Amino acid sequence: MNTKVVKVNRIQPNAAALVEAGDIIKSGGLVAFPTETVYGLGGDAFNKESSRKIYEAKGRPSDNPLIVHIANITDIDKVAMDIPKVAYDLAARFWPGPLTMILKKRPELPKETTGGLDTVAIRMPGHEVALDFITAAGGFVAAPSANRSGKPSPTSAEYVVEDMYGFADMIIDGGNCEVGLESTIVDLTCEKPLILRPGFITIEEIGEVVGEVDFDKCIIDSSSDEPPRAPGMKYRHYAPKAEMTLVSGPSDKVVKYINDKTNEGAREGIKTGVIATNETQYSYAAFSVKSLGPRRDGKQVARNLFRILREFDDEGVDVIYAESFEETGIFRATMNRMIKAAGHKEVNL
Ligand code: AMP
Ligand code: MG
Repeated sequence: MNTKVVKVNRIQPNAAALVEAGDIIKSGGLVAFPTETVYGLGGDAFNKESSRKIYEAKGRPSDNPLIVHIANITDIDKVAMDIPKVAYDLAARFWPGPLTMILKKRPELPKETTGGLDTVAIRMPGHEVALDFITAAGGFVAAPSANRSGKPSPTSAEYVVEDMYGFADMIIDGGNCEVGLESTIVDLTCEKPLILRPGFITIEEIGEVVGEVDFDKCIIDSSSDEPPRAPGMKYRHYAPKAEMTLVSGPSDKVVKYINDKTNEGAREGIKTGVIATNETQYSYAAFSVKSLGPRRDGKQVARNLFRILREFDDEGVDVIYAESFEETGIFRATMNRMIKAAGHKEVNL
C-alpha cells in the first residue's frame, strides 16, 4: 500500500487533504491523525472491516478495544445508550479534551470495534485538526494509538511514519502532541466511576465532577490477580527495545546508583541511556542522557516520555535507567507508563 503523508496545521490548514482523509475513512480505509494526547490510527467506527484492519495494522490482539472519537458532544448517544447524567457533566467540563468515557454500547456499533465488549470507549479530542478530520469522516472514528502493538505511543508524525507506513492509506502530520500521554479512561458502567487508565486529567479533577471515584485495582496493585477492566492494560506496553529499570530514592543515591551501573556496563561494552530531569542531567556520565524537563513540571515530563523512549530505540542503547516520580496528580499517569515500559523492573534505594 502507498501511504500518503500530508502536513495539516494552522498555517497549512489543507482543507482538501482533510476531505480526502474523510473519504478514505468512509470507503473503509485507515488514516493516522494527530490528537492532543498521541497520534491515532483511525477507521470508520461503524465498519467492522475497518476495525479488523486496525488490529492487523497494529499487530494488536482483537480483544483489545478501540476508542470511538467524535466531534460533537451530542453524538454520544449515537454510539452509547443508557447514558448516566455524570457522563454529560464530565463531557461539559473536560471535552473536547483528554478524557475517555466507558459507556454501554448501542447495538448498531459492531463488536469488532469494542473488542467484543458490550461497552464502548468514547472521546472528543481537543485538537482542531482531529475534530475537522472526524467531521469530514462522518463523525465516528475508531482509533487506538498509531504505534505497532507494544511500542511507545507516537507523539510526532515521524514515529507514525516509522510504524504505519504501508499500513495506513494516509498519515496526517500535525506536529508534536501537546499532552504526550494517552487519555484518562473513566468507566461509568459500574456502580461507582472507576479510573481504568490514569492520564492528564487527574482522579481529583474527575472527583470534583462525579463525587466518589476510585482507581481500577490493577492500576494500584500491579500484582493483583483480577483482570484489568481496560483490556489493553494487560498487554506489554510502551516498551523500548532496551531493558529499562526505574530507580527511586533520594536524588544523590539515585545518581550514584545509576552512574555505578553505567560504569559497570561500560566495562562490558554495554551502552546505557539515562532518563533524567533538568536538575540531575549533568550529574550522569552515560552513553546517552536525556531530560524529561524540570522535576516539578508534570506537564513537560509527561509530554517528553514517549519521545525519549523512541529516541533511545533509534540510538540503540542496550539498557535504560530512569529516575522516578512521586505518584500524585499528573505524575501518576507518567509513572504508570514508566512502570509498564520497565516491565515492573524497579529499584528502591
Ligand atoms: P489505545 O488508545 O491504543 O490505548 O487503546 C484504547 C484503550 O482503551 C485500550 O487500552 C483499551 O483497553 C481501552 N478501552 C477501549 N474500549 C474499552 C472498553 N469498552 N472498556 C474498557 N476499556 C476500553
Ligand atoms: Mg495504545
